[in-house]
Amino acid sequence: MKTVVWLECVDGQPTRHAREAYALAVAAAEDAAHDVVAVQVASDGWIVEAAADALAQYMVESGAACLLLPSTVDGNDVAGRVAVRLSAGVVTQVVSMNADRSFEKLVFGDTIKTSVTAAGSVVVATVRAGVVAAFDGDIDVQTVVGASARVALVSAQPRTKSARPAVESAAIVVAAGRGVGDDQGFAQVTELADVLGAAVSGSRPATDAGWIEPAQQVGQTGKTISPDLYVAVGISGAIQHVAGMRSSRTIVAINTDAEAPIFDIADYGIVGDAGTVVPALIDAVRGRK
Ligand SMILES: Cc1cc2nc3c(=O)[nH]c(=O)nc-3n(C[C@H](O)[C@H](O)[C@H](O)COP(=O)(O)OP(=O)(O)OC[C@H]3O[C@@H](n4cnc5c(N)ncnc54)[C@H](O)[C@@H]3O)c2cc1C
Repeated sequence: MKTVVWLECVDGQPTRHAREAYALAVAAAEDAAHDVVAVQVASDGWIVEAAADALAQYMVESGAACLLLPSTVDGNDVAGRVAVRLSAGVVTQVVSMNADRSFEKLVFGDTIKTSVTAAGSVVVATVRAGVVAAFDGDIDVQTVVGASARVALVSAQPRTKSARPAVESAAIVVAAGRGVGDDQGFAQVTELADVLGAAVSGSRPATDAGWIEPAQQVGQTGKTISPDLYVAVGISGAIQHVAGMRSSRTIVAINTDAEAPIFDIADYGIVGDAGTVVPALIDAVRGRK
């Protein structure tokens, strides 16, 4: 059986999340002597139609039975479109792949692990971020050319890049909740993120307050992430938030309420005022540098 991994690239380099998807495919292939092929799409600007056409065509021509993609915005978009073109099923947010082409995924706020497969000769699956270590060797990549007869890129304006890492691929994420209080409290959270080299995230109230973009929110209606370290500042730990971050490897929570549910899943808890604890942490991290 051949498995194709879409190697999503930024600035010509495979993203950490894409290398994780590749590692997951390679681990399954070692169990079942499958072939794994990494494919990137070359195109003049990003056109999802064109990428989906090119990947679907590659799947047909190569006879591959499985396409894995990182569960990013573009990965999810491409996955659905390729599946429609191939009449394939899509399994989303998988955490592992089995030799029989079934997958495991976590549901109900990560409390239940399920085994899922899709009927048909081809299956498309998106891989949840942070569930395996990223493949760190050289990856032999095949390139397919994405071109669409239906859609043309007329113009593009690159977004101003943040110096901070993206929430979905960051090793460390510092997240703000309602408990940080105001813009000044949030500014302290961003300063803590900067000294740690972390991404800035938050709960829904942080989005509602305009401190973070909706794309930075973690939880049921936001991102699902598994960073090495998640620092929750002034976040109560509502189930809708926890659903997006509970599989983080180490969770640190700062909250004035010792009974806050976030402490139930935290590895380290600090009961205290964010306005005092966050500046102290910033000083401590700076002191160690
Ligand atoms: C369908 C649905 C989907 C949702 N999706 C999401 C989602 O994707 N992501 C998400 O986050 N939420 C989501 N929510 C909202 C969710 O239910 C919670 O309301 C939200 O997560 C609470 O955010 P919070 O922890 O920042 O705020 P709160 O629950 O208000 O908690 C604030 C915390 O800050 C602490 N605090 C107060 N002052 C301080 C201080 N000075 N220092 C330190 N700590 C302090 C308090 O003790 C409290 O624990 C969703 C809700 C619904 C119904």
